Amino acid sequence: MVTTHNLGFPRIGRNRELKFALEKYWKGDIAEHALLEIAAHLQTQHWQDQSRLDWIPAGDFSLYDHVLDTSFLLGNIPARVSALPGGALDNYFRVARGRSVSDGNDCACVSAGEMTKWFDTNYHYIVPEFDANTHFSLHASRFLEQIRQAQQIHPRVKPVILGPVTYLWLGKAKDGGDKLDLLDDLLDVYAQLLHELKDAGIQWVQVDEPVLVMELDQAWKHALRKTYYQLQAAPVKLLLTTYFGQLQDNLQLACELPVAGLHLDAVSAHDEIAKVIDWLPVHKILSLGVVNGRNVWKTDLTAALDWLEPVHARLQDRLWLAPSCSLLHAPVDLESEQKLDRDIRSWLAFAVQKLDEIGLLAKALNHGRGSVTEFLRENSAAITSRKQSKRVHKASVKARLQEINDAMGTRQSPYRQRAIVQQKRFQLPPFPTTTIGSFPQTQQIRQTRRDYREGRLPESAYRQAMQQEIGYCVREQETLGLDVLVHGEPERNDMVEYFGEQLEGYAFTQFGWVQSYGSRCVKPPVIYGDVAHVKAITTEWIRYAQSLTSKPMKGMLTGPVTMLNWSFVRDDQPRRETCLQLALAIRDEVLALEQAGIRMIQIDEAALREGLPLRKSQWNSYLDWAIRAFRITANGVKDETQIHTHMCYSEFNDIMEAIARMDADVITIETSRSDMELLDAFDRFQYPNEIGPGVYDIHSPNIPSVDSIIGLMEKAAQRIPAQRLWVNPDCGLKTRNWEEVKPALRNMIAASRYLASHL
Ligand code: GLN
Ligand code: ZN
Repeated sequence: MVTTHNLGFPRIGRNRELKFALEKYWKGDIAEHALLEIAAHLQTQHWQDQSRLDWIPAGDFSLYDHVLDTSFLLGNIPARVSALPGGALDNYFRVARGRSVSDGNDCACVSAGEMTKWFDTNYHYIVPEFDANTHFSLHASRFLEQIRQAQQIHPRVKPVILGPVTYLWLGKAKDGGDKLDLLDDLLDVYAQLLHELKDAGIQWVQVDEPVLVMELDQAWKHALRKTYYQLQAAPVKLLLTTYFGQLQDNLQLACELPVAGLHLDAVSAHDEIAKVIDWLPVHKILSLGVVNGRNVWKTDLTAALDWLEPVHARLQDRLWLAPSCSLLHAPVDLESEQKLDRDIRSWLAFAVQKLDEIGLLAKALNHGRGSVTEFLRENSAAITSRKQSKRVHKASVKARLQEINDAMGTRQSPYRQRAIVQQKRFQLPPFPTTTIGSFPQTQQIRQTRRDYREGRLPESAYRQAMQQEIGYCVREQETLGLDVLVHGEPERNDMVEYFGEQLEGYAFTQFGWVQSYGSRCVKPPVIYGDVAHVKAITTEWIRYAQSLTSKPMKGMLTGPVTMLNWSFVRDDQPRRETCLQLALAIRDEVLALEQAGIRMIQIDEAALREGLPLRKSQWNSYLDWAIRAFRITANGVKDETQIHTHMCYSEFNDIMEAIARMDADVITIETSRSDMELLDAFDRFQYPNEIGPGVYDIHSPNIPSVDSIIGLMEKAAQRIPAQRLWVNPDCGLKTRNWEEVKPALRNMIAASRYLASHL
């Protein structure tokens, strides 16, 4: 018999109950016991959602982040909070977000733990902190309590823990020491934990080691060997779990480690499974993650069975089935979607439906396809309808893709010549000032958009209201004295959703939320079909804004790579192809803006870096098509049209060559918190085009002083020739209010004028 299980379930709740409970708790509106009650209730619900599986996971739930939970489980709590008053939960939230409820809302008495991306997902975890004094000790009461609760609902509970090697890998040695020096101490605590789990009646433990899909040097490989040889004495069975990629040169190691079972991501490592089956010792079980745990698409069950039946014949009872990875990265339940187009809905599966698929596959393997005929027929019908749908496949889009050539992505002249033409055209002063696009999204703006969306405000009134907002924004910028203006983006809810809504091939869910970090969720749009530009999206707004001023007005667009990386994408064609379709669509918008007389166009690529593959060896192939897509979008304009791009992160070192290849006339980046040090990368690379290094942090309400901005720009000018520098904030201003924005920009402009006359 095939065994079914799950690696982890979304925590946030169908209606984002956890988010709202956390936010109320942080505001002091509900007490700790009320928060914990909601959390317990959610967990119960989630276990019930999974109850048809042979094994349910426990311990995968978290109030904020499972890596942070692991730090607390292992007694690795940063010294800066350990002496502070309050209970464990207070310190937990202090590390998570810099303050506990009892600290009050104004106090920023401790710095929060650093947050970073969880592998190549959009989930972010709190980075464990280590130094030479780090000692681990077991604090398992909360974890064990979750196990006990799960055991009341289901007879077979499989605790989920983050493996020791991945835990160390994810952390940061604050003193620059070798993290692996901590392994021995850490393994003692893991051994203790496994004993306690045994005492709690546990048979199988899922130990997540996604580090196995990364490029590992000998020291890390050795750490894995040492860990599992040592933990083999534990009185429970370990299911060593990997996901998000191929094992490649770690494959043999993964097969050989002395554990009772191995889980592999059979979606992204599909081609490795046959080899693993050959190599896996006969006493080990093999869990195959056959249903994609991080997209929204239905699995082709017939195709899966065609592949699984021979595997099952070979492995028999040793075969387990699960989603490829934790369902943390999928929306909860498709049942909630009542407004989605019927066709599109029939192609989708969220977490709950993905578990149904696992159940069906297992039933078909255990009892023959005949036991699930009806379901298979339904599934095939949906798969076929998607494959054949005219809404998915558009001959015109595919034909256009065939016609892409390098010339389309190449400017007419190199930057040096363009710069001369553009300087003549714009006559900008030295250290020109601009902003990144959005201005404060006031309550009123949001309300107007909502009213329009929900049909309470007619189109004409909506347009008028937006024009008024644009007018206000332009006047304020002129009064402040900015050199290059923007329209302020009042009509946009979100930089991806706004464009997605007006392109063909995009669908939007109502409840497709996925946790990004803590209580923050995102609702990525779904790219279901060939993407096409059907009408001009921004020209009317930008042209209106330009009509109000003689200064250059920047057209404002989101780039193809960011559109891709912040959406749920198709699984029926390579990402590269979807990205090129987006590139052509946004290219049309760029050309429409140019046609409409707009002289500067900014194309934001905030998520370009995020799309980098896990293994460095694959970076180049990603960057090749990603940069190509950007170039197709941007570079069809005349020399005299100035292309800007914007990226809000701060690691360019290892992608400088790609950034330069984009060939934007101006790139604006987030730099203020790095004290301009990240310009070193541009300096070393001798980056040839113009740069606007952000001079103040837009996440903070603080007003930057003129001196601080001058200081930063002087540092910038040590690295980049002054005639190629712009002055701008780190990012868009939509989360700030006008009372903060005006004085900040006033100081920024004063700094620019000082620099122009002194440098
Ligand atoms: N133009 C966008 C804005 O200003 C850019 C946002 C971003 O980079 N995340 O809001
Ligand atoms: Zn930004």
